[in-house]
Amino acid sequence: MSRAIAVGLGARAYEVVVGAGLIAEAGARLAPHLRRQRLAVVSDETVWALHGARLSASLQAAGVAVLPIVIAPGEQAKSFAGLAELIDRLLELELDRGDVIAAFGGGVVGDLAGFAAAIYKRGIDFVQIPTTLLAQVDSSVGGKTAIDVAAGKNLVGAFHQPRLVLADLDVLASLPDREMRAGYAEVIKYGLLGDFGFFEWLEAHGDEVLAREPQALSRAVGRCVQMKAEIVAEDETEQGRRALLNLGHTFGHALEAETGFGAVLLHGEAVAAGQAMAFRFSAAQGLCRAQDAVRAERAIAAAGLPTTLGDVAGHPFAADRLVAHMAQDKKAQGGRLTFILARGIGEAFVARDVDAGQVRGFLLAEGATP
Ligand code: NAD
Repeated sequence: MSRAIAVGLGARAYEVVVGAGLIAEAGARLAPHLRRQRLAVVSDETVWALHGARLSASLQAAGVAVLPIVIAPGEQAKSFAGLAELIDRLLELELDRGDVIAAFGGGVVGDLAGFAAAIYKRGIDFVQIPTTLLAQVDSSVGGKTAIDVAAGKNLVGAFHQPRLVLADLDVLASLPDREMRAGYAEVIKYGLLGDFGFFEWLEAHGDEVLAREPQALSRAVGRCVQMKAEIVAEDETEQGRRALLNLGHTFGHALEAETGFGAVLLHGEAVAAGQAMAFRFSAAQGLCRAQDAVRAERAIAAAGLPTTLGDVAGHPFAADRLVAHMAQDKKAQGGRLTFILARGIGEAFVARDVDAGQVRGFLLAEGATP
């Protein structure tokens, strides 16, 4: 059983197919999108070892030759060095503009392969086959691609929409629990930013989603993709409403930067803590009720995710350093900080003129050192 959700972008419109068993159908589903019956598949070693053979078999059965490009797992791949290596491989394979690249992995593979597709020979088509919960509900949809540089995450990139997204729910069976929880932080984000009913449903059924119970998973991923598709169709290049998807990300990015973008604090975990902080900051500013912040925090914590600075082990955070990271954030404009704040659960809004001093005071109250 699968469902197709349309991302309505005119000539660049595409479908996100969400369901079980999609890897086995990938060949038949992708072949119509290929001008030449071959596909460069970018994956990481972990995903390729677990699921590469099944994807290859499906493609080959449909008459599509597979050109695998397998990279080391981890955020470090999203770098200029990682990009250069990938571009060299594409050149070695003599891919031309009639070819298609598939990103088969989590958000790292999707962001890297998507950016390579955006710039290789001035842009070639790509498709996404996301294999983490985070990638299925967020990063594979909407065409944001990027790499990280020393100054910060995702600072070099492009908007490049995929031609098709295949989100196979079965593939999540092999995802480590910690990665599943990190992806769940983005699931809960959709409820917190714009759908109180979905948030309430997650309060009751979040444990089933985390346990990968098929019906709950399908409903959760489907709802997130539907919301993301609507937002992207309305505001592809983030001039307005799309920024709501950054709920928790300004705080979260600062925490990630301080912990080195790695295993100490996964992206989703940083976003989890960031969302709880965004709600507490909203409450402290008198924008939402204190009980909304408590309820948001409780739902995040129930999934085993961090909600406070103190939850991030071994890291006494300095308020000044966190604020400095926020000021570098690509959402910062003219010295004022941009945050996604909330008037209640499901009622997030873009606050473009937040005073850095107030954020600093809040961080001190949250237990940061000066
Ligand atoms: P990831 O791609 O690093 O994957 C996490 C880990 O899970 C990796 O070790 C990977 O090998 C492993 N893995 C992936 N699928 C698996 C599976 N099915 N079974 C077992 N192991 C599996 O991380 P992620 O959380 O998917 O993505 C994080 C990245 O996404 C960050 O770089 C972030 O900036 C980016 N992101 C981008 C967007 C966007 O709109 N482009 C949105 C959100 C996040």
